[in-house]
Amino acid sequence: MSDIGAAIEKIKSKIKEAQGRSPVAPTDVLLLAVTKTVDADRINEAVKWGIKAVGENRVQELVEKYDQVSPNVDWHLIGHLQTNKVKYIFDKVTLIHSLDRISLAKEINKRAAQIGKRMPVLVQVNVADEDTKFGLAPADTIDFVRKVSATFPNIHIKGLMTIAPLVDDPEKVRPVFRELREMREEILRLKIEGVDMDFLSMGMTNDYVVAVEEGANIVRIGSAIFGQR
Ligand SMILES: *Cc1c(COP(=O)(O)O)cnc(C)c1O
Repeated sequence: MSDIGAAIEKIKSKIKEAQGRSPVAPTDVLLLAVTKTVDADRINEAVKWGIKAVGENRVQELVEKYDQVSPNVDWHLIGHLQTNKVKYIFDKVTLIHSLDRISLAKEINKRAAQIGKRMPVLVQVNVADEDTKFGLAPADTIDFVRKVSATFPNIHIKGLMTIAPLVDDPEKVRPVFRELREMREEILRLKIEGVDMDFLSMGMTNDYVVAVEEGANIVRIGSAIFGQR
């Protein structure tokens, strides 16, 4: 088995253990392979070992690799998205994890409408309120979800995403993941028309076990699969 294959197997078993331990862990967790700086050959190797979706955080990299990677793979845009770059990816990605402002929603809506699509997106929440991170403040998130769903018919909000602070002990960020799960539940209770809360995208190499225990059903993992960047 290749290093990449072995790494994927190991992550999958850790996810399974986390699911077994936690009453709030979902039964289906998508292992999203984060492929920034990873070349197409190595991405295809990961696909051979069962990866069904890959995440890029830069538009240019996604576009460059798109045609070189197995067509059976879903592409997700996980990083900060500049409004003027939406046009390069709106027909390629199946999920945008980083909707965090109205101007971006407006542009995604416009492009999606051009091809008669309702673009699935996650709303990025800056739960820990770090200055360095993009995303909405928790206190602004519900209003934002209401506004986007009421204003942009070609956007389909399908859940929430967060990036937890990088810490030495992942237990320290458990409250961040728990808060995102509770926000999801609150939004569900509001039954906002056209809004679904299917996905909680949280957890990376350092903290995905805790994230799954707290309800993540998309984990975004790069270095644990492909090695240090
Ligand atoms: C790079 C990146 C990841 C993956 O990080 P690792 O620590 O390598 O697993 C996840 N999410 C986002 C938004 C990223 O930019």
